[in-house]
Amino acid sequence: MTIHSARRGLLIILSSPSGAGKSTLAKRLIAWDPTLSFSVSATTRAPRPGEVDGTDYHFLDENAFRDLVHTGGMLEHAHVFGNFYGSPMAPVKRAIDGGRDVLFDIDWQGAQQIRNSDLGKHTLSVFILPPSIKELRRRLETRGQDTPETIGKRMQKSWDEISHWDSYDYVLINEDIDETDARLKCIVSAERMRRAQQPGLQAHVRALQEEFEKERT
Ligand code: GDP
Ligand code: ADP
Repeated sequence: MTIHSARRGLLIILSSPSGAGKSTLAKRLIAWDPTLSFSVSATTRAPRPGEVDGTDYHFLDENAFRDLVHTGGMLEHAHVFGNFYGSPMAPVKRAIDGGRDVLFDIDWQGAQQIRNSDLGKHTLSVFILPPSIKELRRRLETRGQDTPETIGKRMQKSWDEISHWDSYDYVLINEDIDETDARLKCIVSAERMRRAQQPGLQAHVRALQEEFEKERT
């Protein structure tokens, strides 16, 4: 018997200051559970080497981005580091209506907008903290994808992001990547076992009751 028949998907939100490790964790989570759907954001920032349009981001110009916002096509959007970022609504609705969870790698503004939206009660939010500011800078530098100027901007904004840590359901300090990854998977697994996430349970318990009563007679 399936106990997940009418389940609506969860919106799983990961946020952190730039460089704390959320993209790395998001990739591991998707590899662990291929049914998890990644919300590919739209952005006006330029692609980094190796980033694929439609997989990492939908790279749009500012006019196309504004059009999507104005036609109600964005679940949330924000201006971050001088560029626009937003989560297209249609793929999210399709996934959660089909019972699949959706993973978001978005900033605190996006997380707040989703929490305040109609889908707010279906969210699970996790904030990733770095072990130290020094290590955060080291990670941005060793990622090797930003100019020193961009790294400076990201470091300047990191406190802005960190200051919202206490609006999240869970907080992980990403010291050792394997440990953080394991903890994140525990959080997602536990959330999926909440009673409210298992609408088929009622039917299962009724079947147990029938079986129980048959056995007694
Ligand atoms: P990153 O710091 O390496 O992830 O650099 P990016 O340029 O890829 O992202 C910059 C910031 O924008 C990060 O905090 C992301 O979480 C955030 N971001 C990415 N996509 C979205 C989105 O769709 N909506 C919002 N609100 N923020 C986003
Ligand atoms: P974000 O998406 O939050 O900007 P990334 O996932 O791109 O961060 O990680 C930034 C850099 O730090 C990457 O080079 C990544 O491999 C590295 N990294 C992530 N987590 C850890 C960790 N726990 N220990 C050491 N390096 C890490």
